[in-house]
Amino acid sequence: MKIAIIGSGIAAFEAAGTARTLSPEAEIVLYSRERVRPYRRPALSRMASEEVSEVQFYIKPQAFYDENRIRLELGRTLTAFDPDVRQLKFDAGETESYDKLLLATGAHCFLPPVPGMELDGVMSLREYADLERLRARLDAGVGRVVVIGGGLLGLELAQSLLERGCEVTVVESCPVLLPRNLDEEAAAVVQAMLGKVKKLTLLFGSSVSSILGEGGRVRGVELPGQTVPADLVMVSAGARANIAEAAAAGLKCNRGIVTDCLMKTSAPDVYAAGDCAEAGGASYGLYEAARMMGAAAARNMLGEAQPFVPQVYPARLSVFGLKIFSAGTLSGARCEVEHNPETGVFRKLFYNEAGCLAGCILVGDLRDALKLQNQIAVS
Ligand SMILES: Cc1cc2nc3c(=O)[nH]c(=O)nc-3n(C[C@H](O)[C@H](O)[C@H](O)COP(=O)(O)OP(=O)(O)OC[C@H]3O[C@@H](n4cnc5c(N)ncnc54)[C@H](O)[C@@H]3O)c2cc1C
Repeated sequence: MKIAIIGSGIAAFEAAGTARTLSPEAEIVLYSRERVRPYRRPALSRMASEEVSEVQFYIKPQAFYDENRIRLELGRTLTAFDPDVRQLKFDAGETESYDKLLLATGAHCFLPPVPGMELDGVMSLREYADLERLRARLDAGVGRVVVIGGGLLGLELAQSLLERGCEVTVVESCPVLLPRNLDEEAAAVVQAMLGKVKKLTLLFGSSVSSILGEGGRVRGVELPGQTVPADLVMVSAGARANIAEAAAAGLKCNRGIVTDCLMKTSAPDVYAAGDCAEAGGASYGLYEAARMMGAAAARNMLGEAQPFVPQVYPARLSVFGLKIFSAGTLSGARCEVEHNPETGVFRKLFYNEAGCLAGCILVGDLRDALKLQNQIAVS
């Protein structure tokens, strides 16, 4: 049996390893447009300023794939597939067959539809090739950067760029920072602390209306009532699932490729996992969720009916010396707040109608993070 996996992110990696454990004889092939073997994607943001060792970056050494007979076909982009005849078509026009197919194509950065996105010096960071382009740009000399998006990735990027000596402005369209991970009260605490960071400007409730250029190169961004100069604009405004090939093949897609809890798509013997999938109506965009979906897909391809069971996926951020943790539902029938303005330690717990812990936000002191995460999981 040939298991073809499209992608080389964590969902693809986990699926390949799980499939090999369950089936010593299956032919397992990973096809990816990336030219490097599976790596830890979240490391990319800090790699703009830091050297990360091979062991920290790659999920496994090449020997793992050789020993487990997992064939890596790198630099190959799937352009189309036909579930009726189980055929894959790649960018050089060549075709391959499969018995079981896993789509683990991840997501791409969302580029807001504003004029100027095509200018030289407007970039985003999703894949290793993006990091190489960004590093080359920074090496050539960048003074001022605008980061569009004040979420986790936007702030991590801002930190790396400051470490590279840039002056950074983060523009967030929501009225608060980290809108997906903090409530208003916690965001105000974090904003006050980040407001003290030198060479960092945070602008909230403000959307970029256009990116300005000169001679084809970016020179700034236009906001309501002001222009912010920039030699580089990093777009970190969320991600969208890579569904084009699946949709063209007639698979049911919404925001992601629709799957059931066994990661089966609407086409026979075609599965989807990770950021490209919408499993049981939900999309996650999180590393750990992608890993678990990949494992579930492989188990189900090989006949074990074991569903993907979503967990509590917390968000962790450590930037500018500030540690933040949030998990669960950030609203509730009742909440408890502790805040020490001198130390900056903030803690907010959210309880549901039944009095059970539904969510939490910790800033500064994360010692209780795991304990609270486990309490949320069982409530
Ligand atoms: C900079 C950054 C930081 C992040 N930090 C965190 C974090 O701290 N915590 C967290 O939980 N999540 C984080 N994430 C999100 C997390 O990385 C993703 O949720 C996770 O990588 C999804 O894994 P995946 O395997 O589904 O897809 P991906 O990792 O996106 O992999 C998809 C793969 O498919 C390939 N591909 C796509 N289309 C094709 C095609 N047509 N043909 C061949 N190959 C194709 C892509 O090249 C890629 O290799 C971060 C993401 C980024 C970009």
